[in-house]
Amino acid sequence: MSDRPSQSNSEATPEVNLAVAELPFKYYIFDWDNNILHMPTRIHLEKRLPDGNWEPISVSTSFYAVVRNDKENYRPPGGDWEQAFREFRDFEEETESMFLRHTREALDPVIAGERKPGPSFRQFRKALIEGRLFAIVTARGHRADTVRSGVEYFISNVLTAKERRQMMSNLRGYRAAYEQDEGYLTDGEVLSLYLDLCRYHAVTSPDFRARMGREEPGVDIQEEAKQFAIMDFMRHLFRIVHKSGVDKPISVGFSDDDPRNVRAVVGFIEEELHREFPQVKFVVYDTSEADVPDGRKIVVSGQMELPFT
Ligand SMILES: [Mg+2]
Repeated sequence: MSDRPSQSNSEATPEVNLAVAELPFKYYIFDWDNNILHMPTRIHLEKRLPDGNWEPISVSTSFYAVVRNDKENYRPPGGDWEQAFREFRDFEEETESMFLRHTREALDPVIAGERKPGPSFRQFRKALIEGRLFAIVTARGHRADTVRSGVEYFISNVLTAKERRQMMSNLRGYRAAYEQDEGYLTDGEVLSLYLDLCRYHAVTSPDFRARMGREEPGVDIQEEAKQFAIMDFMRHLFRIVHKSGVDKPISVGFSDDDPRNVRAVVGFIEEELHREFPQVKFVVYDTSEADVPDGRKIVVSGQMELPFT
C-alpha cells in the first residue's frame, strides 16, 4: 500500500498526473456494512419469549450476524425474509433510497469526528483518491445505481477539496495513459466515466439474481452470490487490462467483516480465481475485529512476476 501516485513536494496538484501509468495495477473489492461504514439499517425479526410467544424486534446487522443461525429463537415476520430485510431493498415510491439516507446518517457523525467508521473506511477513501477501480459487493438488495449514489455521496462529503483535486488528477492521468483522443472532458464527465468502470453488486437485488439466473426469492445463496459478483468483477477487470495492452503486476484486495464470507472467499481464490488468474496477487482483509484498522491481512497467492496470458 506504499506506492501512492507521486505528488510533487509543492502543494500544487498537477491537472493530469501522468505518473499513475507507472504504478502497478491495484484493484479492490469492498463489502459495505461494518466494513466501510456502520449503517443504521435494521433487520426486522420476531424473538421467542420465555412463554413461547413471539414479539417483534429490530436488530443491527452485527447483532444479526450473531443470531443468524439461531432459528429457534429468531424468525422473520410471517416467515417472510423479504419482510425481515425490507430496509435493505429499494421501493418505487421512495424519493430517496433508504441506502442513501442511511449512508448519510452513518457518514455525517464520522465526518464530524464523533463516530468511528468501519475498518476499511480509510482504505476505501485512499482507493478513491488514487482513482483505483473497485467493486462494492454487498449482501444488500439495492439496485446498482442506488449503491453508486452512496459512493458519490462519500466522494462529495468525505474527501477534502484537495483530495478531490488529487483524485481528478489521477483519473485524468489514467485516461491520458489508457484512452485515446477523447478531447477535453469536464471533471464531472471524468468522474462519471470512472464510476461507470466500477461495480456495485448488491447480491440479493432482483437485478443481480436475474443476472445469476437464480431468481427464486428467499433462498440464502449469499456466499455463492458474492463469489459470482467477484468473478464478474475479475473478468471485467481483465477485459480492461487486456485492452490496455500493458503487462505489469496486478493485485486485488478484498475486505469483509463477516468471517464466513472471508473463509468462503479465501477458498474461492484458492480453488477457482487462482487457476483463472494465476498472475494476480490476492490480498484478503478480515475486518471482523472492528478495532484492527484495515483488518487482518491474508495474502492468498502471489505470483506477481508472471506475465498474463
Ligand atoms: Mg459486512
